[in-house]
Amino acid sequence: MLKGSLMNTPLEVSAFLTSLKEMGIEEVFFDTGIEIRDLVMLVRNCKRCRLFQFRTNAVFGEGRYDADIMFVGEAPGEEEDKEGRPFVGKAGRLLTRLMEEVGLDRKESYICNVLKCRPPNNRDPEKDEIEACKPYLFKQIDFVRPKAIVALGRHAYNTIFGTDERITRVRGEVKEFRGIKVIPTYHPSFLLRNEDKVEEALEDLERAKDFL
Ligand code: URA
Ligand code: SF4
Repeated sequence: MLKGSLMNTPLEVSAFLTSLKEMGIEEVFFDTGIEIRDLVMLVRNCKRCRLFQFRTNAVFGEGRYDADIMFVGEAPGEEEDKEGRPFVGKAGRLLTRLMEEVGLDRKESYICNVLKCRPPNNRDPEKDEIEACKPYLFKQIDFVRPKAIVALGRHAYNTIFGTDERITRVRGEVKEFRGIKVIPTYHPSFLLRNEDKVEEALEDLERAKDFL
């Protein structure tokens, strides 16, 4: 049924998914043989939530598809939206620096966000936006199948696990998702405002390195 029809052009697929949504079908799982470049096109053309109206560029994510470590943030900010790349603004520069500090090479990792489009004025993601966008994230996780995922902030963590936790309660622990270690830590934007937490974030990255 869906299988054959999903293998049309990305634009058609996007329109198809939107029409499913209008019919009240919210959950679509990409368990067909979809390829990563198709997924990129789907995201670029995606209108599954209201955020498509505000984007300059959707930010799919970047890095190696054979990476051992994956970083999941919240949503693109202003600079990410302009450039179409994740974590290239102030928070991104901090993240890159923290990675370097523990000896992780950003170019060897895979980096993406829960939401692929920027929320207006960087407001928090809405629940329905996360629901609409999360199949893309899960597909990315399935493609990369890293050894460790660093969940940057509560939205990344709660989206992966379907929970409603505060990051302060779960950081310091190691969880597992589909056989992959998940290390929750602070979001870099939070660290920009709370420098005293940087040390703990570095500990978390060191902990993630143990699984590589
Ligand atoms: N914050 C995020 O969560 N992701 C980005 O890509 C940039 C800032
Ligand atoms: Fe689609 Fe995600 Fe962008 Fe919403 S945020 S329009 S679900 S890609």
